[in-house]
Amino acid sequence: MNTWKHLLSRSITRPEQLPAFLRRNSPNLAKVIERYPMRINPYYLSLIRAPGDPLWLQAVPDELEINDQLCPDDPLAEENLSPVPNLVHKYPDRALFLVSSACAMYCRFCTRKRKVGTGRLTVTPDTIRAGLDYLIKTPMIRDVLVSGGDPLLLDDEALINILASLRRIPSIEIIRIGTRIPCTLPMRVTARLAALLKRFHPIYVNTHFNHPDELTPQAMLALARLADAGIPLGCQTVLLRGVNDNPEVMKKLLQKLLLNRVKPYYIFQGDLTKGTNHFRTSVGTGLAIMDEVNRHCSGLAQPTYAIDLPGGGGKVALLPQHEMYCRS
Ligand SMILES: *Cc1c(COP(=O)(O)O)cnc(C)c1O
Ligand code: SF4
Repeated sequence: MNTWKHLLSRSITRPEQLPAFLRRNSPNLAKVIERYPMRINPYYLSLIRAPGDPLWLQAVPDELEINDQLCPDDPLAEENLSPVPNLVHKYPDRALFLVSSACAMYCRFCTRKRKVGTGRLTVTPDTIRAGLDYLIKTPMIRDVLVSGGDPLLLDDEALINILASLRRIPSIEIIRIGTRIPCTLPMRVTARLAALLKRFHPIYVNTHFNHPDELTPQAMLALARLADAGIPLGCQTVLLRGVNDNPEVMKKLLQKLLLNRVKPYYIFQGDLTKGTNHFRTSVGTGLAIMDEVNRHCSGLAQPTYAIDLPGGGGKVALLPQHEMYCRS
């Protein structure tokens, strides 16, 4: 078995499997994971140092997830914007295509936590076929974001089939892969995978790192393999309380990404997703961080600070002049 499959199979999925030094006394975690599954693979687990640290917060369930009564499950109205299951067509020329229902870790702040890793997101040959058929008959879509779940959790053959089918559609120019694998299970990025992806250029990979400690030697090797295959790399970071809501941490993250040939793409204000409220920071905090980043980092390191508007309004940049609307 491949190293990555073996690691994945040894993931912990129940709070009582956490090593004692990473536990907190929270009796209701079983209820949390009934609703929002837990999966921490041994690689990511090995990076966590102590309860409450930035990596622990992203991976370990919290009772606060089920105490949120206010936020909607699907704030971005993705279900309403899906002409066929698992395909979101929100912008005229771009579509989001969910081809995998699972991830190498279930991030506690996930915007699709209502369904990722649960029976509410199912990917089958039929949903893939329906998505491809929609893309074929909708030639205004020229840019497809392949996402999930995590598309790189598919095995090589399944991934090749999807990418080859997309490449057979003449109206599709750009293929983007949205994946957290280089961060959460970098050994999945084998030399074989990089060589495989390269066959489908122009292909872009957007990764998702939230903290400089996630850029380990293994993650750096994964990124180098992709960059060496000529794949432009971007990063979508989510602004998360206790993880990266601090200018020094954010600057270090952006600089480390650049060193690894990853161009920071977006920093997202946390979506209003049910079960993620405890991660939310104010827009003022985000703007203050961006101000530091603007003043101290090269232009190459500057992502767009953006919010994905509730109700399917799409992504808009948050700029200093917006602060007056955001005082809280
Ligand atoms: C984010 C997103 C896109 C891509 O937007 P870009 O700003 O081009 O990166 C496309 N479709 C959906 C549904 C999205 O959420
Ligand atoms: S890897 Fe992405 S889709 Fe999967 S749980 Fe994390 S944030 Fe959600």
